[in-house]
Amino acid sequence: MTTLNTEVLVVGGGATGAGIAWDAALRGYDVILVDRADLAEGTSGRFHGLLHSGGRYVVKDPIAARECIAENEILRSVASATIEDTGGLFVTTPDDDPAYGDRFLAGCRETGVPSEEIDVADALRAEPRLNPGIRRAFTVPDASIDVWQLVWGLANGAAARGARILPYHRCVSLRREGDAVTGAELHDERTGETVSVEADFTINAGGAWAHEIAEMAGIEGVSVVPGKGIMIAMNHRLVNTVVNRCTMPADGDIIVPIRTVSVIGTTDIRSEHADDLPVTQEEVDAMLADGERLVPGFRAHRALRVWAGVRPLFDDKKAGGSTRDVSRGTALLDHGERDGVGRFITITGGKLTTYRLMAEEAVDAMVEQLGHDRPCRTKTTALPGSEDGAYMSPGARLRARDSHLRTEQLICECELIERSTLETAMRARGSHNLDDIRRSLRLGMGPCQGGFCIYRATGILHALDRLGAEEANASLHSFLDERWKGVWPILHGDQLRQARLDDWIFQGVLDVEHVPAAPALAEPPPAASNGSEGAEGGASAGRAERTGAHE
Ligand SMILES: Cc1cc2nc3c(=O)[nH]c(=O)nc-3n(C[C@H](O)[C@H](O)[C@H](O)COP(=O)(O)OP(=O)(O)OC[C@H]3O[C@@H](n4cnc5c(N)ncnc54)[C@H](O)[C@@H]3O)c2cc1C
Repeated sequence: MTTLNTEVLVVGGGATGAGIAWDAALRGYDVILVDRADLAEGTSGRFHGLLHSGGRYVVKDPIAARECIAENEILRSVASATIEDTGGLFVTTPDDDPAYGDRFLAGCRETGVPSEEIDVADALRAEPRLNPGIRRAFTVPDASIDVWQLVWGLANGAAARGARILPYHRCVSLRREGDAVTGAELHDERTGETVSVEADFTINAGGAWAHEIAEMAGIEGVSVVPGKGIMIAMNHRLVNTVVNRCTMPADGDIIVPIRTVSVIGTTDIRSEHADDLPVTQEEVDAMLADGERLVPGFRAHRALRVWAGVRPLFDDKKAGGSTRDVSRGTALLDHGERDGVGRFITITGGKLTTYRLMAEEAVDAMVEQLGHDRPCRTKTTALPGSEDGAYMSPGARLRARDSHLRTEQLICECELIERSTLETAMRARGSHNLDDIRRSLRLGMGPCQGGFCIYRATGILHALDRLGAEEANASLHSFLDERWKGVWPILHGDQLRQARLDDWIFQGVLDVEHVPAAPALAEPPPAASNGSEGAEGGASAGRAERTGAHE
């Protein structure tokens, strides 16, 4: 058994945990960050992709709106390389009350969210696929954000300052000595090894699983209600601006352009368990119908995949919260004060847009308890890669490709991934899991869903790491299985034809079903099984109780 010592142990490697690792490392702490799966394979990697301007909350939740616009502005300066400055529109569709637009504008003025009403004709010129029946349009500084670039940027920044980043290390127990948490036992999901961590302070950033981690320290009543939302990625950028319906937050009312696709979402259904997120046909149909309100003909476009994420909605039993009105805000629990268990705090709730603020509040609380004087530096320190303040550009790969069209082998045509880029990512991740590489580069995330690139990538992985054929085949199997889960619930039209073609390639030509494959070492957690874009497509309807809490 390996034993590690650290000043700060962070459990949970989503945006919040990675943000905490970065913040604490910048303040000079020795940090270990652990996740049971790959980083951002929980809710962070399964979110909608929107860097909120706050516009969505100006009427319903002005505090959240103020937080969002403040964080939106900070992240644009410190994490610019992870953000595409798409801008945002709030539009009044024929189904919406035009008077809400006045409340919206007043809310924007009150909360400091920059907004302006523009001519409907100008909105339609900018976004020609929008419903020509829209009656009002307002601009806001919404943007899209690439969560994997963000979370790995935070983790790599922390690692450059000495932090140890341990994906696929599940926390299986927390060690208590008297009234304090003094470390944890981890299970290495890839090797099966047990790792013991001795920590001066432990921060629980377990998102929708935070209650399970708190229970490991003997703490009851940390209630996090899992609020499930589904999203569907469409083949193209049907819009280039984030488009929101100008109404009170509802289902399927936002389309976010991300890289090569556009994503519609989301829903808000209470889930029994954060790891059990079936997607139903009804949900898919309803989401596509919602898309029609914003972009007529939406359902005729090609849907690539569907997935579900689970909001960590904090419902403090000690405060007597109800399910319907659970807090949208952040919950920071000082377990010393709350439960008499020291050197341990939990932070959950919030939004991806506010991860930095959550991290700052959590580390501030730790610093205060430790009696140190180490101010937060994340407002002004750029993440690695964001030093020049340039935004992410969707055309960057195409521009780069132009300069060496004849010399570089193209591996993934949909996402324009070249061989050298793929090899660099494989070396950097040191992982044989093609799904990990997918998250780093968007490998296999385009229209063919890996049909043309994954067997090539498997061959490269095999050559690069001198993998045995059985291990390489296992990597291929695992990738195909995970992709399929997100594909089959939305199969129709062209995407069905694509799936048939992929099937011919893998089963008809390569006969992958019968090639010998090693057993997979690390089983992904049930619901997080294909990172951001995959859902447990299932027939189960689950419990359709709404949480009343839309993103
Ligand atoms: C459908 C949906 C759409 C959303 N869209 C947006 C949006 O567009 N914009 C926005 O700002 N916010 C959005 N959100 C909210 C946002 O995604 C979340 O608030 C945020 O990602 C939570 O991050 P987190 O790091 O706290 O949790 P997570 O990302 O869930 O991280 C918790 C981590 O803990 C790990 N973990 C659990 N148990 C253990 C264990 N025993 N040992 C080790 N690790 C463990 C998990 O694997 C996970 O990676 C959306 C949420 C949902 C559900």
